Amino acid sequence: MKFFQTKYVTEFEGIPLNGVRRRAFNKLNQDIYSQKIKINQIKECFCGASNFLALSQLDRFGLPFGSQICQSCGLVTQKIRIDESSMKHFYENIYWPLIEGKEGNYFTFSKESHPDPFFSSQMNFEKKEITIFEVGCGAGNRILNLSSIFEKKGYVVEKCGCDYSINALKVAQNRKIKTVQGGMKDLANLGKADIVILSHVFEHFTDLKVAMAELEKLVHEKSFIYVEVPGINDLENKKEYKYNYQMYNVLAHTYNFSLQSLTNVMNYGGFELITGDEFVRTLFKLSKKDSFKSEFISAFSDTMISLEKANVKSEKYKRFRNSYFVNYLIKIIKAFLARDI
Ligand SMILES: [Zn+2]
Repeated sequence: MKFFQTKYVTEFEGIPLNGVRRRAFNKLNQDIYSQKIKINQIKECFCGASNFLALSQLDRFGLPFGSQICQSCGLVTQKIRIDESSMKHFYENIYWPLIEGKEGNYFTFSKESHPDPFFSSQMNFEKKEITIFEVGCGAGNRILNLSSIFEKKGYVVEKCGCDYSINALKVAQNRKIKTVQGGMKDLANLGKADIVILSHVFEHFTDLKVAMAELEKLVHEKSFIYVEVPGINDLENKKEYKYNYQMYNVLAHTYNFSLQSLTNVMNYGGFELITGDEFVRTLFKLSKKDSFKSEFISAFSDTMISLEKANVKSEKYKRFRNSYFVNYLIKIIKAFLARDI
């Protein structure tokens, strides 16, 4: 296997580590060293090819979880990843303090600014009692948001969620969500759902084929599957990452998807796209297997073009932030805020 370097492999521009992040970072290092957390090297893409192009060497924390794009199908995957058997330990002990930089915070992605959240206007049911499952529900903000949309329309909604974090589940339970500790296969014990939410979860899976087989068990023919991931082709619009690929890349994301690369994977699993955008927000449904393989379209060129656009914007943003005038303005604003307090 030969790695090619792109210009996106730049010097480290990660985020500074505060006390909580530093402790999580040190624990991660210790657990990898003592093999409590196992690491695998990725040599083959989901599509079977192994002609990768390196995109980054480090993640946003400076950890050596670089990423690579498959030149055949365009799916972006990590060079090394945490083994599935270590995931529970990783999410229980390291993930939240490392990502959020503070203890006890499970409330990410709480705002729904989209005009049609979850594409709910496209979900129709013949019955008035529906069940919603959320995989990786955290404190349950998203499942409650979607449930309230249907409850306002007169539906009775049963809400069930799973997560690895027991502390997050305690919060969800208090909010009248039936909870299961674990992943999709544990949620399957509760039966099937009319809607399954996988929001900022799919990019964390280690084995996509296993994940889709487990997902299939959660749905019936008329179920809707809402999958949301941080779309790689949308990086030029993602200010939260400073439009910078290094900032976007994080050790917990085993894959970076575009709308096309996600659709390719889901089609392989027997799921059909109803609607979607590059954000990425998508709605899928179960379909007859093997009917989509002929529609396979490589996501490679579009993603490389999008990364180039984001890179131009990121450089411009960096120049702007580093300019004398902007720094001067920030200092003045800070001085005024301090004076008011
Ligand atoms: Zn591939």
